[in-house]
Amino acid sequence: MAQFYDTHAHLDYPDFANDFPDLLARAQAAGISRLISIGTDLESSRRAIRLAEQHEPVFAVVGWHPNDALTAPDDLRPALRELVKHPKVVAIGETGLDYFRLPSQRAADFQSAEENPGTADNMSATRCAEDARVKAKQAVIFQQQLEVAVETGLNVVIHQRGDCFEDTLKIFEPFADKVRGVFHCFASDAATMQRVLTLGSLVSFTGILTFKNGQNIRDTLAATPMDKFMLETDCPFLAPMPYRGKRCEPAYVREIAAVAAQVKGCSIDVLSHRTCETAHEFFPKLAWS
Ligand SMILES: [Zn+2]
Repeated sequence: MAQFYDTHAHLDYPDFANDFPDLLARAQAAGISRLISIGTDLESSRRAIRLAEQHEPVFAVVGWHPNDALTAPDDLRPALRELVKHPKVVAIGETGLDYFRLPSQRAADFQSAEENPGTADNMSATRCAEDARVKAKQAVIFQQQLEVAVETGLNVVIHQRGDCFEDTLKIFEPFADKVRGVFHCFASDAATMQRVLTLGSLVSFTGILTFKNGQNIRDTLAATPMDKFMLETDCPFLAPMPYRGKRCEPAYVREIAAVAAQVKGCSIDVLSHRTCETAHEFFPKLAWS
């Protein structure tokens, strides 16, 4: 059977605590032979490493997610330097920027029903300041993770969501001749993808590729060269069709691959060969099965 890898999964999330051995068996039965568990903070990164130690097909990426930036230590680098020494740590991340879930946005979601006109100006000024504080901390820990990547020769898994692509590149570009990034859960247009490739980096595609309203993403994949993308679930999020809305898991890379092969006009075997080769080149510590 054609093999595929889930290059971005959050296997340490509590969603999987009750049926992890079954999940692994289902992945194996579906031909998903390598699973990369992505850390979102130091504890999550340590859990990813523990899973990699316990299960042969699992590998780990260690880092700190931008959504949790405020709780990150001022200097993340010493702890990261220790974690990346592990033989099954294949990259750093996920890191990057997220302007989609800033404090003002979360507050707006929460309070949209409330009327409080007297303090509105005050509130918005406070939220602006909070947003700026979060953005600044995201930038600092992104930069620190890129620095550790340079020191250790590992690549980075990059998250960018909301209106932050330009800011992401501004921070990444000075490192681009020494570090490659995979811009994960890629959902932008072909021109944006080209800018990522120009820097020597890659993109990866999730289950949204299979959504009815995912035509723009299928168009981007169609324009992406065969050796410049990988597949991922980002589970437990973003289950592909026909599981949309349910808990996602690594076995579903199969459904994503079926649509990807269709979009690329290639066989499942060719897609398997090219995407696995790309993953080994990007994650040099990832062992062949
Ligand atoms: Zn993720």
